[in-house]
Amino acid sequence: MEQFEKLNKSTSEELDKILGIPFKVLDKGFIRVVDYMGTDSSIVQAARVSYGVGTKQVSEDEKLIRYLLRNMHTSPFEMCEIKLHIKVPMDAWRQWIRHRTANVNEYSTRYSIAIDDSQQTLPGEWRFQAADNKQGSSGFVQEEEGKLLTKQEEEFHKHARDIYNSRIENGIAREQARKDLPLSTYTEAYWKIDLQNLLRFLKLRMDPHAQYEIRRYAEVIGEEILSKWCPLTWKAFKDYMFNSTSFSGIEMDVLKQIVSGTPEDLEKTADESGWLKKRKDGTLVRNRERLEFEEKISKLGITAPWNK
Ligand SMILES: Cc1cc2nc3c(=O)[nH]c(=O)nc-3n(C[C@H](O)[C@H](O)[C@H](O)COP(=O)(O)OP(=O)(O)OC[C@H]3O[C@@H](n4cnc5c(N)ncnc54)[C@H](O)[C@@H]3O)c2cc1C
Repeated sequence: MEQFEKLNKSTSEELDKILGIPFKVLDKGFIRVVDYMGTDSSIVQAARVSYGVGTKQVSEDEKLIRYLLRNMHTSPFEMCEIKLHIKVPMDAWRQWIRHRTANVNEYSTRYSIAIDDSQQTLPGEWRFQAADNKQGSSGFVQEEEGKLLTKQEEEFHKHARDIYNSRIENGIAREQARKDLPLSTYTEAYWKIDLQNLLRFLKLRMDPHAQYEIRRYAEVIGEEILSKWCPLTWKAFKDYMFNSTSFSGIEMDVLKQIVSGTPEDLEKTADESGWLKKRKDGTLVRNRERLEFEEKISKLGITAPWNK
């Protein structure tokens, strides 16, 4: 019979300290850790099965975790799982639930009375529709207008709740009485996900382009929970997934010309990609790919020559 080493369950002292303790999110939401399996060591342990114990180059835990994430060897990260209890408004939950690789059990408003909490927006928190991004917001409305919007919201929430309560009192089925509750109504769920898919969730939902409300939840999961649960993975995630960027073939060609080509070659390359089409008045036609490229290189301190 083959001999195996004695195993100890891998736990995180830092995460154990916050087990069950809720972190407040938005006005009435929260996230708390219910349970977890594995830690940074479990990733290393699983990876060593594929590389063999004692592989020289990747022998230290941090180096190995960084190597795995950098090279998208993601399956060892699936050895870790976390179960969260969350309270979140339904509009943010609708985005959250699109991450299909999690296991979910949500509070049932068919079985129970709907949670009597709605996410409220303070006068200074109303955002304008962004002009350049149909899915985004930009800037805040003035306080006076915000006060009016908040007052209307309060009245609307109260009205919707009163109607719901009166339906319930009159014996209407909970499954039907709930249909006119606003999307700001809070729901609760248990959400369990493995670390590989959690990193993907965080990459998308911590992004500055993600909606503020779900971003707040993602930030709490990353900064307050993952940082304690798997600190080495959290650090590697920030380096290789969150704060990193990638360049497409076209972008590489244009960047090469910006850094070491002639203005003529740059113009030709960018023009071939349709980036520099001009209107009659000489201004550049809006090109989403070009704008995204400009945003990426601005992080490197480079201004696109056509904007100088
Ligand atoms: C900024 C932003 C805007 C968005 N806008 C919209 C929108 O307008 N409308 C809309 O409907 N959604 C929208 N989404 C949701 C988006 O399309 C994804 O469904 C969501 O982000 C979940 O990502 P995911 O599929 O990577 O995650 P998961 O569902 O957790 O899946 C993880 C990975 O598993 C694999 N996978 C999972 N399920 C399947 C499958 N069935 N087939 C093949 N591979 C699978 C894929 O590799 C996937 O990336 C938006 C998301 C973001 C971040």
